[in-house]
Amino acid sequence: MRVTEARIRDRLAAIRKDIAEALKRSGRVQDEVRILVATKYFEPDQISALASAGVNLLGENRAEDLARKQEMFGNAFEWHFIGHLQRRKVKEVVPRVNLIHSVDSVRLIRELGKRAPERGVNVLLQVNVSGEESKYGVSEDEVEALLEAAARTEGKVQVRGFMTIAPLVEEPEDVRYVFAKLKEIRDDLKKNWSGCFDLSELSMGMSNDYVVAVEEGASLVRIGRKIIEEGP
Ligand SMILES: *Cc1c(COP(=O)(O)O)cnc(C)c1O
Repeated sequence: MRVTEARIRDRLAAIRKDIAEALKRSGRVQDEVRILVATKYFEPDQISALASAGVNLLGENRAEDLARKQEMFGNAFEWHFIGHLQRRKVKEVVPRVNLIHSVDSVRLIRELGKRAPERGVNVLLQVNVSGEESKYGVSEDEVEALLEAAARTEGKVQVRGFMTIAPLVEEPEDVRYVFAKLKEIRDDLKKNWSGCFDLSELSMGMSNDYVVAVEEGASLVRIGRKIIEEGP
């Protein structure tokens, strides 16, 4: 996929404008939303165009690709991991990223606790709000068990908040409930857990649905196709 720096700049400006308007509409005027660009569509030789276009936060889905791309462009970006993380890949991923968005099992949390550096590793818990079968993430009922597991790592696994992937639909309004629900889950858990974890991040919204996600409280949106595809 070829994409020029000018085009990336253009797309980013449009996305930033959408986000600013969504924040205003929802009364979130003090809030900031960070744009993460999903790198799974970009070959390594395309990534420098992202840096020159002003992107500073990237998210990769696969441990191998993360290693490859980060070794080439490590210092130009903050890196996050957004894909399904296997326990045997933890060792490779942890030293390369500032945040892992996709933590969804107690066993994975234990492994992260073992492999984290002294300062700890920052994670989001992935929640499957819609109950779609094909998606990773835990159900609402299982989230607290993950927080308990993270608390047992004694500061090694720092839960910063939650992530969800909404089902792909034609009409973004149809997944508004997913984002509203994730925020509700977070707000509820804050009552018991804010002494232990800050839980301030909500990673939700992709190319199709980021406007709705921001209206419902996203602090991080993860954008891929909208940066590269033709059209509005
Ligand atoms: C690919 C991907 C994205 C970006 O999706 P687009 O629909 O291309 O914007 C966001 N989050 C995750 C976890 C992804 O794998």
